[in-house]
Amino acid sequence: MSHSTTKQNTTNLKEVNHFIDGKTVHSSGGTYIDNVNPITGQVSVGVAAGTVDDVNLAVAAAKRAKRDWRHFSNVERGRLMLALASAIRANKDRLAELERIDTGKPLVLALAEIDGTANYFEFYGSLVYLPTGEVLDVAPAQHVYTKREPFGVVGVITPWNLPMNQAARAIAPALVAGNVVVAKPSEITSQTTVELARLASEVGFPNGVINVVLGTGPVVGEAIVRHNDIRKVAFTGSVGVGRVIGHIAAERIIPLTLELGGKSANIVFEDADLDFAAAEAVKGFTLNAGQVCSAGTRLLVQRSVYQTFLEKVAKAVEAVVPGQNLGPIITAAQFERVQSYFKIADEDGAHVLTGGKVAKVKDQENGFYIQPTIYKDVDNSMRIAQEEIFGPVLVAIPFDTEAEAIAITNDSPYGLIGSVWTRDISRAMRVADEIEAGQIFINIWNTMSVQTPFGGYKHSGYGREKGIEAVHHYSHSKTVTVKI
Ligand code: NAD
Repeated sequence: MSHSTTKQNTTNLKEVNHFIDGKTVHSSGGTYIDNVNPITGQVSVGVAAGTVDDVNLAVAAAKRAKRDWRHFSNVERGRLMLALASAIRANKDRLAELERIDTGKPLVLALAEIDGTANYFEFYGSLVYLPTGEVLDVAPAQHVYTKREPFGVVGVITPWNLPMNQAARAIAPALVAGNVVVAKPSEITSQTTVELARLASEVGFPNGVINVVLGTGPVVGEAIVRHNDIRKVAFTGSVGVGRVIGHIAAERIIPLTLELGGKSANIVFEDADLDFAAAEAVKGFTLNAGQVCSAGTRLLVQRSVYQTFLEKVAKAVEAVVPGQNLGPIITAAQFERVQSYFKIADEDGAHVLTGGKVAKVKDQENGFYIQPTIYKDVDNSMRIAQEEIFGPVLVAIPFDTEAEAIAITNDSPYGLIGSVWTRDISRAMRVADEIEAGQIFINIWNTMSVQTPFGGYKHSGYGREKGIEAVHHYSHSKTVTVKI
């Protein structure tokens, strides 16, 4: 990895610091992590390398804020959330630029991500008007009711692919349920999460309600999960780190939401609208240069249309151009990792339909670009079909029958999303029921909105983000029985 920890202020590099208790806070260790812009390959900002002491400071601030925040009326809490959404939209261009510096993604994607961030605060801010408990008719002389209560201080740990969006996805439902937050974005993409906390403070959130501690996972991330006053953790990231956090959460007996990886399948039957399906399949594996947990990276095509369909996909992918509408891989380590799969594919005897190489972009020669890549005639047991590559790489697998398509789809450690393409709606719904994944799309690819619960089966994780359902993952119910 091209990151190195440096002493503070040896250069004029912009510093990104923690946001704790309503103000900018420098790391107690005084060191910074060099952050590399994936378009230029050059160091762009220095990110505070937080310490356990910094985590303790943030959790203490959150704990102090907890009482106040919980006793805000629901309506007041909702209004602040809506004000934050407006502030995010008002700062959209600036935030998108920060996201671009950290991730290199095309402007249109960065802007969409900021919009999506605002949507979370609008949606969850509006839920404050919904009833949260119920009255249970248990016995004649008793009044029994349930209410939902927040956990307290929630730890939010997020990855580098959709930084602000993923932070908001957890922070917004946590707040609306009455929790306070200590967030740790990826050390590679920290800027917009800090800005989110700063904007919240500007629109009137009390100090300490949203705290952001920057730094590495093993130091800051683990310290958050281990802290005694952290009562719930929402983690988005890799399976390996999810497992580490899962062990700690199990020891501490605290609830955990794990949003992990995916190897999602598009299943194309011979009667589908092949032109539309081909265009959507390309979108499914190239969006954000494939660095999306819900990318559609396995393409299962019925053998009778396999050849024709692959020609359409190969044609459609010509419109995806590195450096234009296809951004770079966000980290140097991930750039290397994607390339290592080209070697693995070769060794496993996979056939390249298109791509399979690093892409050279004019005037961005040091950028981390990969050609959109399709392997054909892949066997589902190959590593490129089983492992999440997290780059713009698609594997095409032929099948003959519906049963075979379902078996191949479910022969995966992951189960995040899936899609079915056919004009036979009965078959579509049958297959949707059989796929082991948290969300299924029929004749469309991944139109996920903030309203739709999102999460995985198997190694893709557990718990659900988004939708009303997520609020239940940030609160527990209490039953009160009154003798009349
Ligand atoms: P990662 O697991 O390496 O890191 C995620 C976060 O965890 C980062 O903030 C990191 O600093 C922190 N971390 C690392 N080690 C830690 C530790 N020991 N204790 C606590 N925190 C630690 O993941 P990544 O490489 O940043 O992101 C890519 C992965 O995220 C992919 O596998 C992708 O599929 C997954 N992802 C999942 C979703 C989803 O919603 N299901 C969304 C986006 C990304």
